[in-house]
Amino acid sequence: MPFVSGSYQSPKLELRAIGPREVGVFATRAVRKGEILTISGGVVLSYREVKELPRRLQRLCFHIEHGFYLVPPRGRKVAMGFYMNHSCAPNAGDLNGASALTAIALRPIRKGEEVTCDYRTVADPDDRRYRPLLKFRCRCEAKNCGGVIRA
Ligand SMILES: [Zn+2]
Repeated sequence: MPFVSGSYQSPKLELRAIGPREVGVFATRAVRKGEILTISGGVVLSYREVKELPRRLQRLCFHIEHGFYLVPPRGRKVAMGFYMNHSCAPNAGDLNGASALTAIALRPIRKGEEVTCDYRTVADPDDRRYRPLLKFRCRCEAKNCGGVIRA
């Protein structure tokens, strides 16, 4: 596995290019509901520290607790969990919506299907310690699509 030690990714997953500058995580075999997909390790930084990182790295950080983000370890391959794209109707996430470290299959995932999570589930916009790093227009086409996503 060419990915960082200290993180886990299911052997049923691989990274694929989905555009000239974009990648996604895809299932190479069928995944059962409840299977662990990724457990991401990294460095915990405060919002202020993350804002000082290069933009490219900021896009790979995810919110884990109010005011804190998980960042890929410096100088190593970035673990697969950091590359999971957003969907407003995701097939992966965590059990209680409170931690971005572990992604499990929320429903059966077909071979070849892209694995996605909802970037909004880990953030509480009412908490003033939460400040989103990313703002983008979602094109997931889910019925409940949130449109502009802040994560
Ligand atoms: Zn959407």
